[in-house]
Amino acid sequence: MQRRKVTFKLYPNSKELARIERWCKLHCELYNAALAERIDCYRKTGKSISYFDQQNTLPEIKAARAEFVDLGSHALQQTLRKLDLAFQSFFRRVKAGQTPGFPRFKAASRFSGFCYPDPAGWKLQQSGKRDANIRLGSGKDAMSIRARGQHRFGDGVISNDLTISRKNGDWYASVTLRVSDEACARERAGSEHRGIDFGINDWATFDDGQIIENPRWIRSELPRLADLQRLRAKKRKGSIRYRRLSCQIAKTHERIGNLRREYIHQQTSYLVSQCDVLATEELKVKNMSRSAAGTVEKPGKRVKQKSGLNRELLSLGLSMAHQMLGYKAEEAGCRLHLSNTRQLKPSQRCAKCWALVPKTLKDRMHVCPCGHTMQRDQNSAAVVLIDAHTPGTGVAARPKPLSRQRYKQKSLTRETPTTTAHAV
Ligand SMILES: [Zn+2]
Repeated sequence: MQRRKVTFKLYPNSKELARIERWCKLHCELYNAALAERIDCYRKTGKSISYFDQQNTLPEIKAARAEFVDLGSHALQQTLRKLDLAFQSFFRRVKAGQTPGFPRFKAASRFSGFCYPDPAGWKLQQSGKRDANIRLGSGKDAMSIRARGQHRFGDGVISNDLTISRKNGDWYASVTLRVSDEACARERAGSEHRGIDFGINDWATFDDGQIIENPRWIRSELPRLADLQRLRAKKRKGSIRYRRLSCQIAKTHERIGNLRREYIHQQTSYLVSQCDVLATEELKVKNMSRSAAGTVEKPGKRVKQKSGLNRELLSLGLSMAHQMLGYKAEEAGCRLHLSNTRQLKPSQRCAKCWALVPKTLKDRMHVCPCGHTMQRDQNSAAVVLIDAHTPGTGVAARPKPLSRQRYKQKSLTRETPTTTAHAV
């Protein structure tokens, strides 16, 4: 069994919309009340309340306030867990010596949504190719909201949980499905062995010299974003015009994100469908995109250039690409090899004689004393492919399991195979 997440966009009619908004407000109210209770209790008695103490008061709340009954008891519990998680994260970070913010009261407009932690109280009905219905509630009070989206797993899926959330004024339903391994499997059309180097000049370069150009999603939208931000700067903060422009800016960012995700989905699906072995570097975007700003006493050099580079680096969506390659390679039965960058140094290493040839970022050609000359990125793609063919190298293709919330049953854990263990 695997777990897969599918997101549907909801198209509620006005009555349904009013109802989800009201529900969301009630969840928010519960969250804030629970937070207030925790703070109050600690101030008065010095003791903290646990999640279970709060869960046990839910029946009383429902008896006193009938409107909460509609929301479903498990969904209400989930909102209390959300608060509990906030506290856990807070204390974990305090313990680790960081300075986290205390869990905050939330305005209803900033409360993102609510969640059904199990299949009770809702149903996903897929009808036709891109149409679906999300049924919320039970009995004659249930509402069936029109949704758009699809999953490719067929009829044999089991619904696991549902999150209803709001983003830029639109509502989405994110469903976790439990899918059999066979239903996840992807067809494979080729059995090539390819090394890939992801980069800024070209989004990807292969060991045979083929490239995928960088679509520069952000760069094409930047002028428009700048215009909007300039306009907004002239408006009074909080005014209707200010809010209207903020909304447009948020939508532009969302659009860039959607374009990027779509593109990366297509490219990674194509790659795993063509390849037996895919080799690339392990990814450490956090280190690569560290700010150059430095401190007040010791300011960094070329801060603006580095921040531009960081913007481009992050806009490549490399971690997204790696994550997708990870699970898609598994689905297609393709081996994904991730080279250890520290040990291998693919951009410095010569693919022919394996010597280290130091380069700076602006050296675009690899010129080795041994006579091997190649375009820089193509050379490093060739190096990682050789590394993939060397047994015992590489790091685990999927180092981290999918993050799971606590309180879930153990049997749902997803396996994380180390694909590098197989020999070629
Ligand atoms: Zn060489």
